[in-house]
Amino acid sequence: MFLDNDQIESLLPMSECIQVMKELFLLDAEKDIVNPLRATMPLQNATKGIMGMMPAYIRPYEVMGIKILSIFPDNYKQGLSSHQGIIHLYETVTGQLMTSLDADGITGIRTAAVSGLVTSLLAIPEAKNLCILGSGVQAKKHIEAMLEVRDIKTVTLWSLNRSSAERLATDMEKFEGIEFIVCNTIEEAAKDADIICTVTAATEPILDNEYLKSHAHINAVGACTASTRELASAIINSSDVYVDNRLSAANEAGELLIPAKENGHDALDFIKADISEMLKDSNLYDASKKTVFKSLGVACEDIAAGLYCYTKSKT
Ligand code: NDP
Repeated sequence: MFLDNDQIESLLPMSECIQVMKELFLLDAEKDIVNPLRATMPLQNATKGIMGMMPAYIRPYEVMGIKILSIFPDNYKQGLSSHQGIIHLYETVTGQLMTSLDADGITGIRTAAVSGLVTSLLAIPEAKNLCILGSGVQAKKHIEAMLEVRDIKTVTLWSLNRSSAERLATDMEKFEGIEFIVCNTIEEAAKDADIICTVTAATEPILDNEYLKSHAHINAVGACTASTRELASAIINSSDVYVDNRLSAANEAGELLIPAKENGHDALDFIKADISEMLKDSNLYDASKKTVFKSLGVACEDIAAGLYCYTKSKT
């Protein structure tokens, strides 16, 4: 059995995926989930290509699996997805393969759904201005997810190439009653935003601190390696910081590792809580503060989303 991107799109609406991610992060991370650090194999050639291998086991769901992904960041310039691959799901009684799924579709939806879940906790309840930096797959999906969790009225868009942001604005016209504004600068796009999603392939900081609202919530999604980041150190130094997974953050989040090195302390010292902790204790966060969610993406999200699609496809 194989579930392709079109099937995944219809089996996994954003609202349902946010709920699937909530149930996943409510599991006991220590006891219920095995989520080893992903293995990556940089090709060190002109394409900047990476092969990623991401396994996980979710004990209560009796499922294990692996996402195998090729990441070629420049692919979008040729109209190709930058994240291509496959997810294999196995049952854990006899170890048989249950299904395989297109990793592109699952990655797009589950990443934004996790940001949606976190935004429902960390953005002010009356948030109405959303800023999206970047205009690729994650930009589209993050707009969808943010609209699920807050009553957004205005979306400011910025992309490295203005034409990409204009194309995204046209694609988003399907969302009636929401104004999409293409901006020439990041400052213009971000200065009035209650929620900012950085979803670019940038490797150096693009977002600065000085023009951000004091209650802004930022989903920092783009940079996923120890040497890359989208946010200036000043943002990390002045915000409450949350992560999906501490082990990943300590090894893969340049967003935290670089300012930690500048300050001479451990990256983990920045972290107020992970998603599981936040869901279990609302004293750990305050939406009126400036907050950053550093998303790296963990394999258990892919396995839970894949299992949901598989189970639904059988009914
Ligand atoms: P796409 O390839 O679809 O889009 C890439 C985007 O990055 C384009 O909008 C492009 O803008 C922009 N961009 C490229 N280079 C730069 C630069 N130097 N500065 C600023 N913007 C730039 O990618 P996705 O939407 O699939 O992914 C976006 C990012 O999110 C990637 O870095 C990816 O690795 C990461 N990601 C993170 C996940 C997680 O779980 N945290 C999961 C999946 C992806 P333009 O078109 O204007 O040139």
